Amino acid sequence: MTQTDKIITRFAPSPSGELHLGHAYSARLNYDFAKKHGGQFILRIEDIDLGRCNKGYEEQIYEDLKWLGLKWETQVRRQSDHFDDYLLALNKLDDMGLLYPCFCTRKDIRAEIEESSRAPHLKPAFGPEGLIYPGICKNLSSDERAQKMADGIPHAMRIDLEKALSLLETPLYWTDLTRGTQKACPKILGDVVLARKDFPTSYHLSVVVDDHIQKISHVIRGEDLFYASHFHRLLQHLLNLNTPLYNHHALLKSKEGTKFSKREKSVTIKSIRESGVCPEEIDGLIKNYL
Ligand code: GLU
Repeated sequence: MTQTDKIITRFAPSPSGELHLGHAYSARLNYDFAKKHGGQFILRIEDIDLGRCNKGYEEQIYEDLKWLGLKWETQVRRQSDHFDDYLLALNKLDDMGLLYPCFCTRKDIRAEIEESSRAPHLKPAFGPEGLIYPGICKNLSSDERAQKMADGIPHAMRIDLEKALSLLETPLYWTDLTRGTQKACPKILGDVVLARKDFPTSYHLSVVVDDHIQKISHVIRGEDLFYASHFHRLLQHLLNLNTPLYNHHALLKSKEGTKFSKREKSVTIKSIRESGVCPEEIDGLIKNYL
């Protein structure tokens, strides 16, 4: 499916910490793009991880964005209100036989990596987001799976990428407005988790569902998510969802050349605001870190 004609952009922060200058940059790009084209700018609160997100940070997001002078459509979509939508998508993939339960703990995965590194021919591949899941639970027999379920061992649900890719009759493409047409290469992330052990969805699943439901025409986000877009294109195809146009912007970097993290207090919008800086000075500040 292709995107609709109307320009709709979104800024989709997670209320798991304070917004920093990098968020301000991303929000601004989305806002300015929508305004320039007479479109809509949407705010989405990505709070599926209820253990890490909280209402206080959410309130602060509204405050920070208001201070930056951004106005968004009044209906804010909070992901934690929509677990049913993600479950529907998850069940659809499950009905297609494309998911398998994964009982692994981080420790199990680490042990497998160590083991494989002793036999280099089995060495698991690393992708842009770290280790590609070595498929431990994919190879369980149905009896082993049933036993683990019966024992009540918590499990996540992973996509069986090989199976999903075997359903494709032709390659998939997506557009990055800066880098041009991309041939989707979802393999790059491996058998991604689509439902976590502690809640029945994941970032990857909920983001494609929401971008579709909210009719997002342009996804403008950081280049750290460039590879995720390759995988999102596959999910959109499997679930028959819209494919927006994409643009991945540069990430702001600290003086040491590292990515900003939510822990870096000096560059949070709140601390900048409280230090007496005016919102009009933000663009200048951002340029120092690009
Ligand atoms: N919630 C994500 C974040 O805070 C944004 C993901 C996206 O824009 O697709 O990094």
